[in-house]
Amino acid sequence: MIIDFSKFSSIKIGPKIRVKIVNEYNYNSEVLIGRATNTLISPSPPKLALLDERYKFIKTENAYLRVGAKTKNQSLYHFCKRKNIKGFEFLAKLPGTIGGSIKMNAGVKEFEISNNLVAIKTLNGWIEKKDITFSYRFSNINEPVFEALFEIKEGFDFELDKTLKLLRSNQPKEASLGSVFKNPKNDFAGRLIEAVGMKGMKKGGIKVSEIHANFFINTGSGTFEDMMFLIKEAKKRVYNEFGILLEEEIIIL
Ligand SMILES: Cc1cc2nc3c(=O)[nH]c(=O)nc-3n(C[C@H](O)[C@H](O)[C@H](O)COP(=O)(O)OP(=O)(O)OC[C@H]3O[C@@H](n4cnc5c(N)ncnc54)[C@H](O)[C@@H]3O)c2cc1C
Repeated sequence: MIIDFSKFSSIKIGPKIRVKIVNEYNYNSEVLIGRATNTLISPSPPKLALLDERYKFIKTENAYLRVGAKTKNQSLYHFCKRKNIKGFEFLAKLPGTIGGSIKMNAGVKEFEISNNLVAIKTLNGWIEKKDITFSYRFSNINEPVFEALFEIKEGFDFELDKTLKLLRSNQPKEASLGSVFKNPKNDFAGRLIEAVGMKGMKKGGIKVSEIHANFFINTGSGTFEDMMFLIKEAKKRVYNEFGILLEEEIIIL
């Protein structure tokens, strides 16, 4: 299938290229893409793949939620809200798919996708959470995730839902990849980028957001090279000024 990543990805950057549609039987070491909401795709990426439609489902099985990795985060959020399940409130405004979110250990504050996770289904069958390393925006998963099993806890938290949605209201609405860098320990990447004078800085079509300096937004004609320039510039300036090496949260392919 041909995918135009300048339309498909949330930052609206990337080539128009052939992508393989994969399942457990035909996967052959391609790099899996979910919705490319945290991935910057270069003009010449490695071989890419998307999961096929069979991995888009949500089922309850006894005390567990069984979810296909192609399922959108928001679909799981709505399902849990309807079924009075807690622990997935933070997915309300989190773009992307369950597979990408598990790989990234996506989350908001202390709420992370790994919290309620029980196991993932990979090429080698089911792997339990205790055998996977998860930390802040990190997992050591280096293989495709086809399905996930989550614990069901009763009681969707409407208060938390409201609070988390409010948090989002001050985020840029333009095309972006969310936070470009991870927050360093005890600090905020956005604060550091602002402190080195980069808030509002523009390179080509990419701009460091005026609202949140850790969001680099595409004003329409942004390119891979523009993004890379600003990423390198932010790292250089923050390191020279504060001795802190910013680490990318986004994946660059
Ligand atoms: C406006 C905006 C706000 C955001 N806010 C947040 C936030 O608050 N918190 C947060 O954590 N993130 C946030 N993000 C980033 C992004 O939404 C999450 O990281 C999301 O989980 C990525 O999902 P995806 O399916 O798009 O992954 P992709 O970007 O497609 O992929 C991400 C990584 O996962 C791998 N991957 C994808 N699918 C699979 C699979 N099935 N199996 C194995 N590996 C896979 C890819 O190879 C890549 O390494 C935000 C992004 C945007 C644009």
